[in-house]
Amino acid sequence: MDHIALEKSVTAANYDPLPVVLREAKGVWAKDIEGRRYLDMMSAYSAVSLGHGHPRILKAMMEQASTLAVTSRAYHTEVLGPFLDRLVRVTGLDMALPMNTGAEAVETAIKAARRWGYRLKNIPNNRAEIIVAENNFHGRTTTIVGFSSDESYRDGFGPFAGGFKLVPFGDAQAVADAITENTCAVLIEPIQGEAGIVVPPDGYLRELRALCDRHNVLLILDEVQSGLGRTGRWFAHQHENIRPDGLILGKALGGGVYPVSAFVGTRDLMKVFDPGSHGSTFGGNALAARIGLEALAVIEEEQLVERSAEMGGYLMERLRSMRSNIVKEVRGRGLWIGVEVDTNVVSARAVCDALLADGVLSKDTHGTVLRFAPPLTITRDEIDWGMERIERVFARAIH
Ligand code: PMP
Repeated sequence: MDHIALEKSVTAANYDPLPVVLREAKGVWAKDIEGRRYLDMMSAYSAVSLGHGHPRILKAMMEQASTLAVTSRAYHTEVLGPFLDRLVRVTGLDMALPMNTGAEAVETAIKAARRWGYRLKNIPNNRAEIIVAENNFHGRTTTIVGFSSDESYRDGFGPFAGGFKLVPFGDAQAVADAITENTCAVLIEPIQGEAGIVVPPDGYLRELRALCDRHNVLLILDEVQSGLGRTGRWFAHQHENIRPDGLILGKALGGGVYPVSAFVGTRDLMKVFDPGSHGSTFGGNALAARIGLEALAVIEEEQLVERSAEMGGYLMERLRSMRSNIVKEVRGRGLWIGVEVDTNVVSARAVCDALLADGVLSKDTHGTVLRFAPPLTITRDEIDWGMERIERVFARAIH
């Protein structure tokens, strides 16, 4: 049986992978089992922002794995403190709670917000509300899909926890209208990723910040995908010069080799946790902490944030100047770009398949938007290599 058939026969069909079997990857390049080479313009939804197999990450990982790896938080280690110290400095916040996946860090934020509301604002738990945006994506746990506006994420998985209020994304007035005395938090992606790289109007985050201040409500940002340089700033909210009360990070924090996530917040917010109130066997283990620490150091020392802004500007310009009648819009920030295609002519998935055949890894969202999010280490020459193929595929669609 071939690899795809074997995988399909024993794997729950909760994904629909592109028809390629990858064997190895280094930097921005991946290779399949037949030795064909691909430019990775997807980086595992931003988890591989540092590029595949970054030598510093691999070295730190091997060193740590052979010294002290998985410990649980039953004990202190030499690495957790330095990791979270660097994380709070880079985020401008005070304390962090380490987890593994993005969804777990979102769950952590939800628990923190509710307990904060209960303890500091006397909001009874059965009345507590968190305001979230339509078309949000924060992960796949039952609590999280419970407040998704995408019915396909929820279909047949109920009952769900209540306490969430959906408002349109990008509309600060809708948030103002939704806030009540029982509102603990506004939980939002500063740029919506899975929705198709949706950038809100300028000033949106600043308005949310002002509203949250006025009503003593927490502003919690999910930057699992947009954070750590992806948009050309360390964090997407820095495009509007605001500071959230809570920040959710994941993906790239694991250096492309390991799941590392964290919920980072102000001291007042993080103080709601006491021993036994939350945790995970693997969250904050020595290996994760060492990798997270090294990932932050690499982003800073290799100036990947600046590179993202510069190369993102170049990629955006190249994509916007493409001649094609299937492009409806090219949007995004930094090296995080969505190309919306005219689905009357072609589906985004068909474009992905054509790009794959031509040596470029990308991913479609909802059949309408093609996402380009290459490692932040990508060079101009590598973008040119990819653009030659992208232009060819898009030009072919001109009738
Ligand atoms: N939040 C956002 C904004 C995301 O994009 C994602 C994953 N695409 C998640 C949370 C969930 O992360 P994970 O898959 O690691 O649970």
